[in-house]
Amino acid sequence: MIVLGIESTAHTFGIGIVKNGKILSNVKKTYTTKKGGIIPIEAAKHHKKNKEEIYSEALKEAKIKESEINVIAFSQGPGLAPCLIEGMKFAKELSLKLKKPIVPVNHCIAHLEIGRITRVHHERIPKKGTKTSHEASKHFSEKCLLGAKNPVMLYASGANTQIIAYASGKYRIFGETLDIGVGNFIDNFARYLGIGFPGGPKIEKLAKKGKDYIELPYKVKGMDIALSGILTNLKQKIESKNYSKNDLAYSMQETVFAMLVEVSERALAHTEKNELLLGGGVACNKRLQEMCKIMCKERNAQFFCPENSLLVDNGAMIAFLGEIMFDSGIKFSFEDSNKIDIKPRQRTDDVNVSWK
Ligand code: AMP
Ligand code: MG
Repeated sequence: MIVLGIESTAHTFGIGIVKNGKILSNVKKTYTTKKGGIIPIEAAKHHKKNKEEIYSEALKEAKIKESEINVIAFSQGPGLAPCLIEGMKFAKELSLKLKKPIVPVNHCIAHLEIGRITRVHHERIPKKGTKTSHEASKHFSEKCLLGAKNPVMLYASGANTQIIAYASGKYRIFGETLDIGVGNFIDNFARYLGIGFPGGPKIEKLAKKGKDYIELPYKVKGMDIALSGILTNLKQKIESKNYSKNDLAYSMQETVFAMLVEVSERALAHTEKNELLLGGGVACNKRLQEMCKIMCKERNAQFFCPENSLLVDNGAMIAFLGEIMFDSGIKFSFEDSNKIDIKPRQRTDDVNVSWK
């Protein structure tokens, strides 16, 4: 079975193609700015302009013809309404044209489910008795194919920051940001430093050059975190001109990532799970990955971190979850596609996880 997945919740328009759980292609284009953040209408225009080209590229990369597609999955929410509409319109167009069913997918859960094919994130440990590196890596990849089975996920993206884990039929949110998402927080901080969107990768570079830790507020409230106060504090520090950009970036990462790791560890302890999975664009940050890895090692948990192309918003994870949902019987026929709408505010725990 071949499933095509469409992602368009925010800045990225992506199309991925999955065949029986294997990713055949994952093509995307991201709206960026030199200064300032995302303007939803502009991002939606970006998606409209690029969708056909991304679609052709995804088919080409997967080496399939459009007639071979069996199912069309798309990100139904949560996200920015104008952007979601572009993705849904394209899904419906394809569904009607190809006469194939549609599966609406929750974006956050797609970030989680892709962990099923995510490799364990640790150094290669050769199996006893294996001599060649080829043999060792074969053993490694066999082991890794298993992926995360029942993880706690730290979902750290632009608009969302949640600690999610499965319990009694749903992916429950054990903790989350009480105000803004960690990616938006970092992008705002970057904007105060005069850096455009996305700010995360540039802040990571500055942080590497930071030497002195500057004390910042640390806001963990039970299982939740709060970021807007830290943002105000950083803004004041930037305006005072008493601090170097590098030290501020470094201190921001050390403080905020420690908060994320603390709530993730608490969720692991409470749920008695022993797998941590990272997801979302901020998870591309090597320092965050390192801190998670250390925490997991200390409590004997396994740490899973997908490759960057699957961490950021992408169509492959939508196709991947679309296939799982379709297999469990969730679908709309093309004749019923008018019954489907976007869900900009859909929460992770609104979805009944009937496929698990
Ligand atoms: P997403 O919404 O999941 O696609 O993630 C986008 C967010 O990830 C943006 O806010 C980016 O600034 C952030 N981001 C991307 N790469 C990094 C990085 N290396 N470090 C921190 N944040 C990052
Ligand atoms: Mg995302």
